[in-house]
Amino acid sequence: MAARVLVSDDLSPEAVAVLKQAGLEVDVKVGLKPDALEAIIGDYDALAVRSATKVTAKLLEKASRLRVIGRAGVGVDNVDLDAATRRGVVVMNTPGGSSITVAELALSMILALSRHVPAATASVKAGKWEKKRFQGHELAGKTLGVVGIGNIGSVLVDRALAMKMRVVAYDPFISAEAAAKLGVERVELDALWAQADVVSLHVPLTEQTRNLVDAKVLARMKKGALLVNCARGGIVDERALADALASGHLGGAALDVFEQEPPPADHPLFGLDGFVATPHIGASTEEAQSAVAVAVAEQLAAYLNHGVVKNAVNVPGLPREIMDQLAPFLPLCEKLGSLAAQLAPQGPSEVTVEVAGELAAVPIRPLAARTLAGFLRHHLETPVNDVSAPAVAKERGIAVREVRSAEPHDYASLVTVTVRGQGGEAQVAGTVYGKREARLVRVDGFRLEAVPEGHVILCENDDAPGVVGNLGTALGAAGVNIARISLSRLDDHSRAFAFLNVDSAPAPGVLEQVRRLPHVRAVRSIHL
Ligand code: NAD
Repeated sequence: MAARVLVSDDLSPEAVAVLKQAGLEVDVKVGLKPDALEAIIGDYDALAVRSATKVTAKLLEKASRLRVIGRAGVGVDNVDLDAATRRGVVVMNTPGGSSITVAELALSMILALSRHVPAATASVKAGKWEKKRFQGHELAGKTLGVVGIGNIGSVLVDRALAMKMRVVAYDPFISAEAAAKLGVERVELDALWAQADVVSLHVPLTEQTRNLVDAKVLARMKKGALLVNCARGGIVDERALADALASGHLGGAALDVFEQEPPPADHPLFGLDGFVATPHIGASTEEAQSAVAVAVAEQLAAYLNHGVVKNAVNVPGLPREIMDQLAPFLPLCEKLGSLAAQLAPQGPSEVTVEVAGELAAVPIRPLAARTLAGFLRHHLETPVNDVSAPAVAKERGIAVREVRSAEPHDYASLVTVTVRGQGGEAQVAGTVYGKREARLVRVDGFRLEAVPEGHVILCENDDAPGVVGNLGTALGAAGVNIARISLSRLDDHSRAFAFLNVDSAPAPGVLEQVRRLPHVRAVRSIHL
């Protein structure tokens, strides 16, 4: 008997055709009320949705035959993932389905700015003929600086190279080989700001990228340079951008995304020449909407007919005995991955997850996958989880090694994560006390015993008296409360290290003050 698929949101006729051609029985019932959906869901093996259908735990209880849910799009907030996982239902999404569309908007913004298309249109429509005013620039031979070369950034790179631009890129989280394959020259951020005639941003909004482009950065950009943000509001300081445009330092700026959406009518950018805006329409093309629908149909068909899992966002169940042993270590691995990502050298090319002691007797793939998910998630917009992490790492040119060693150790079981990249490596290790007390026991050469959780300040200093006191005083004066502190030093006393759990992230100015304290060599703030 053919498997049955219920399409409960408006996909596209092409997507429905894909399902039918795969020999599946398809019912399209869009806009059903929750009760009506609950009444029929028990008849289906698969459910295809966009964002309108709410796949709740209550609905899943009635879904006795359901094996897979396909979401056309990226976000899966409308699906109760835990409930689906518990019931063994695979949930898939379609990341990257709108990358071409968003990259094309960024390219059209660049073209619009360099030839003043919106302002020239307004001028012609107002009955003027201002040929001199709208003299522009060619893109061929100019330098494009792309910040973030993930799904979207890499498509833009390809298009810009076709237009004979020179492309430089900054992405600390992609290996040199993967960048070289794309045909970009990898540079540091400072060099990118200084060299680019056009800068286009394609990074997620994170603690590191919030206000990435501020007044200082804008001042470092070339006079007359263009800036495009089709990524996320908040990456550009809009007030500083307005100042840089008003002063004539920047030649133009285009935003598809704003700190506040919709932006207020009296926004400082709105009155400025050389400013171009669109209302967050980066992913809005017929093709992108259709592409994600067809992609989800293909994925559902591949799963139902051949058991092939692509872009799954939840973890299929593992044998209970193994899961019971591994479960206490999964949260630790996530934290070790996240910490390793924040300490890792640029262009990571290899992540090794080594499990030593008792735990080395069972398959450790789930621990490696969770470590990798913690490592990748930190920098990526694309949702990464235990299922997708190995494939995402491969795409980015990051090799993953799993090592099991039963050698006796100071701890019953120890997980060590080592990241190698350009010019160095970072190593962190942790264990679990009892069933749930995760402890970080090593950061590079320093042994310690710290709780890997929440806001953390890492401080490296000379092994000299008074440093911790000064640190406490400086943080106290800035209103940063220290919850826990773990100290360590190298055996030869050449360097010491402090790991401070704090209740709130310190402002950048406070870190700068700490860095200037006597004997402090380096300080950074991270979040686990
Ligand atoms: P992605 O996860 O595939 O790529 C993001 C890239 O940024 C990664 O390569 C990552 O390594 C890099 N990165 C992370 N932190 C960085 C940093 N501090 N400096 C430099 N690089 C850094 O994501 P994507 O699908 O390409 O999406 C990129 C952006 O586009 C996201 O912000 C996303 O929200 C946005 N987006 C906008 C629209 C729209 O409608 N305008 C639509 C889709 C996506």
